[in-house]
Amino acid sequence: MTPEQFRQHGHEVVDWIADYWTRVGSLPVRSPVAPGDVREALPPSAPEQGEPFSAVLADLDRVVVPGLTHWQHPGFFGYFPANTSGPSVLGDLVSAGLGVQGMSWVTSPAATELEQHVMDWFAELLGLPESFRSTGTGGGVVQDTSSAANLVALLAALHRASSGATVRNGVSPEEYTVYVSSETHSSMEKAVRIAGLGSDAVRLVEVDADLAMRPAALAARLERDTARGFRPVLVCATVGTTSTTAIDPLAELGPICQKYGVWLHVDAAYAGVSAVAPELRPLQAGVEWADSYTTDAHKWLLTGFDATLFWVADRAALTGALAILPEYLRNAATDAGSVVDYRDWQIELGRRFRALKLWFVLRWYGAEGLRAHIRSGVAMAQELAGWVDADDRFDVVVPHPLSLVCLRPRWAADVDADVATMTLMERLNDGGEVFLTHTTVRGQVVLRVAVGAPTTTRAHVERVWALLCEGHDWLAADFAE
Ligand code: PLP
Repeated sequence: MTPEQFRQHGHEVVDWIADYWTRVGSLPVRSPVAPGDVREALPPSAPEQGEPFSAVLADLDRVVVPGLTHWQHPGFFGYFPANTSGPSVLGDLVSAGLGVQGMSWVTSPAATELEQHVMDWFAELLGLPESFRSTGTGGGVVQDTSSAANLVALLAALHRASSGATVRNGVSPEEYTVYVSSETHSSMEKAVRIAGLGSDAVRLVEVDADLAMRPAALAARLERDTARGFRPVLVCATVGTTSTTAIDPLAELGPICQKYGVWLHVDAAYAGVSAVAPELRPLQAGVEWADSYTTDAHKWLLTGFDATLFWVADRAALTGALAILPEYLRNAATDAGSVVDYRDWQIELGRRFRALKLWFVLRWYGAEGLRAHIRSGVAMAQELAGWVDADDRFDVVVPHPLSLVCLRPRWAADVDADVATMTLMERLNDGGEVFLTHTTVRGQVVLRVAVGAPTTTRAHVERVWALLCEGHDWLAADFAE
C-alpha cells in the first residue's frame, strides 16, 4: 500500500469508525451470533491474491459487526466500562503509523520521555504520593493490563523481601505468603502462580459486611504466619473491587504492612482514575502507604485498551526484579545510567508507544473534561441507586461509592430468587437495548449496573431502570400464575 493509497483508505476507515459510533446505539448491545457463526462466514483459507480494500471494509459490516458486543453502546452497563474516544483512537493510529519500539530509551527517546512525563502528570492529577513521581525514588510506567501490573508488583515485592535472592535462586514456594481477600481480582492469584509460589501461598483475609478487607484480620494472619516462620511478601488491597466496588481501607492497612515489612500493592484498576475528581479522593485515603498502585485508563478514562497506569514508590525494586541486559541491547545511554529503559519495568521486551494516546486524551479533554466524565458517571449511578432504594421491588445490596450499582430484585417467597434474577437479566440482555452482568454477594445472585460508557446519558439510565421494573413485574406475574 503506497502512502497515497493509505491516505485514501485511511480516510475511508476513519469515516467507517465515525459512522459506527453514530449508529452504535441502534444496534443490539449483545452480539446475537451463535458459536461458530463468525468463522462460518469466513473462507476456509487465506486469500492467495490481494483484494481491493473495499472488500475488506464490506466484510467488517458483513462478518465482524454482527459478531460484536458493543462496549461503546450507550446501553452497555456490563462488567466495567471499556471507554474509548476520538483522541485515544487517533493517538493509537499515530503510534501504529510511527511503528517505533520503545523498549529502551535509545530505541526512541520520545517514547520513553513522553511516557515518563505523562505518568508524572497523571500522578499529580490523581493526587498520588510524591514518591511515585519520576523525580523521586519511584516512577510510573504504562503496562498493558492491571493483571500484568499485579504480576510485576509481586515480582518487585519478592525481590525486596528476598534482598534480591529470588532473581538468583528462584522462589521458595513454601516460605513466602501473599495476602488478598475473597474480593481481590483473580489476576493476583494468577500472578502468584506465575511467580512460582503456587496457590497455597495465598492467604485469604476476611472481609467485613461491606466486603472490605478487615485490618484486624490481616494483622492476625500476618502475626500468625511470621510466628510460624513464613515470610509475608505482599498485601493486595483493592480500591473498587471487580464484583461490587468495595474499598479496602488503605489508611488502616498501610501501617500494618509497614509493621510487618510487607509490600502494599493497591489494585485500583477500575476506581483509581476517579481520583481526578478531588472530592472522590477520600475513598483512597491512605494511598501514601502504597508501594505500588495500578489503575486502568482503558476502563473509565476515555482511553482505549490497553493503557494501565502503574506506579512504584521504589523503582529499584522493580528494575532489580526485571532488568536484564544482553549485549545486543547495550548502548551508551544505558551504560551511563542516565536514562530509563522501560523494558526493565515490564514482562515483555518490546513495547508500543502507548503514551501517545494518553497524551492525546489529556490534551483534548484536559483535566476538567476527564473530571466531568467521571462525575457524570457517578451522578447517574447515584441517582439510579436512589430509585432502586425507594422501590420496594428491589434492594440495593452493597455500598455504591462510584458508578456501579448492585441490586437484587425481590421475589415471592416460593420463587427461586437466584433463578428469577438471572431470568430477568437474560430477558433484558435478549432485548438488545441494554446489557447487564451479574455477580454474587453473600452467596446470592445480584445484578450489576455499571454506568460509564462515554455515550450513556441520564435517559439511558432511566431506560435501564424502566426495563428492570417492567421485566420484574412481568416475571413476578408469570411466577404467580
Ligand atoms: N483488578 C481489578 C480490581 C479489576 O476490576 C480488573 C478488571 O476488571 C483487573 C484487575 C484486571 O484488569 P485488566 O483487564 O486490565 O487486566
